[in-house]
Amino acid sequence: MNVSRKFKRIKIEMRTPIAKPGNGQISNGKINNLLLIGNGTGKEGKRYLVKGLRGLLNHSMMTIAEQKGIEICHSSNKVETQSGENLLPANFHPNGACYPENECIRHWLMGSINKRSVLRFKPVVIVSENGKRKATGGQKMHIATENRNSLMKDTMKAIQDFGDRYIAGKFTLVIELLRELSQEELGFLLKSILNFPEMGFGGAVNNGSGEIILEKVALQEVVRTRAIGKKGTIIEEEKEKNLWKEMEEGLASW
Ligand SMILES: [Zn+2]
Repeated sequence: MNVSRKFKRIKIEMRTPIAKPGNGQISNGKINNLLLIGNGTGKEGKRYLVKGLRGLLNHSMMTIAEQKGIEICHSSNKVETQSGENLLPANFHPNGACYPENECIRHWLMGSINKRSVLRFKPVVIVSENGKRKATGGQKMHIATENRNSLMKDTMKAIQDFGDRYIAGKFTLVIELLRELSQEELGFLLKSILNFPEMGFGGAVNNGSGEIILEKVALQEVVRTRAIGKKGTIIEEEKEKNLWKEMEEGLASW
């Protein structure tokens, strides 16, 4: 006896020469652009979660919809600043304002506080490819810290030292589709992914960081089966099939 689930997913293989992904959260007095999810004690090395990939897709979708003149949700749900300045560019409505009466294509895919997204982002967990302690359970990337300091205005006196974590190399993002997508929805999603290299990823983009190079994008149908074997051992099996034709048709319909 087993359980199985059939679904589609998009597998995106990409690389970055250097990126500072995430939003620069401060932890232990250091600016940390990645989320540390293993503390590296004992045998295990450090594992990090790459943040900001959903945000990258969100912003890319805004660009793609704008090019086609289609109104979608903005990433912000604010209409104006506290001083009454208009924040919302033309062709956008506040995030989630279209739901449920006039749901736009972005909201249908990405959801908002009012509705769950139909895209499930698998966490991109990375480990250092060159650390002394070899961590497992993550994609191998170059992870390093750039030491920086802020200088006092008009002087060379440092007022703050901090380390900026950066990554370099290849990584794969997997997005599971929780619903069947129409051709147009699939096309919009794929074009937004194809637009990744035009966007900046993470911080310090104007200083050359956050470049994304796409290497491969595949739409796949997956059947994942799980059974309980001898003495309670879980046996999991995954069968995948590439859907090149469906991908092509989706791209052609947006
Ligand atoms: Zn909307």
